[in-house]
Amino acid sequence: MKDCLFCKIVAGEIPARIVYEDEQVVAFEDVNPQAPEHLLVIPRRHIVSLADAEPEDAALLGHIQCVIAELARARGCAEPGFRVVNNCNADGGQEVGHIHYHVLAGRKMEWPPG
Ligand code: 5GP
Ligand code: ZN
Repeated sequence: MKDCLFCKIVAGEIPARIVYEDEQVVAFEDVNPQAPEHLLVIPRRHIVSLADAEPEDAALLGHIQCVIAELARARGCAEPGFRVVNNCNADGGQEVGHIHYHVLAGRKMEWPPG
């Protein structure tokens, strides 16, 4: 989608430190990391937020979770543990309107989140 930051990363129009990509998904390092390891995992296809997910997105969203698990194992984060965050719409703290999953690792996470 025009004027979408993450669509531009998918298209290679904005540089990013990409750590994984396949035909459906791209994962890259967050430019402002909130943990020693902070990745963003996004679908190539523009979906605004999790609130817009439809039944036909089930396979894609399931695939994203499997990619997250694979990345966590490959990067040594699975056994110590990690956190997956989806900020959804304004009250959820979403700033970029292209659905994305934060993967945070490398330190002990706190609960509850702010
Ligand atoms: P949100 O607040 O929408 O859940 O998260 C958006 C995330 O995108 C933030 O963690 C922010 O640091 C990250 N971000 C914003 N602009 C860029 C960018 O140009 N490149 C990368 N790699 N991350 C970005
Ligand atoms: Zn987009």
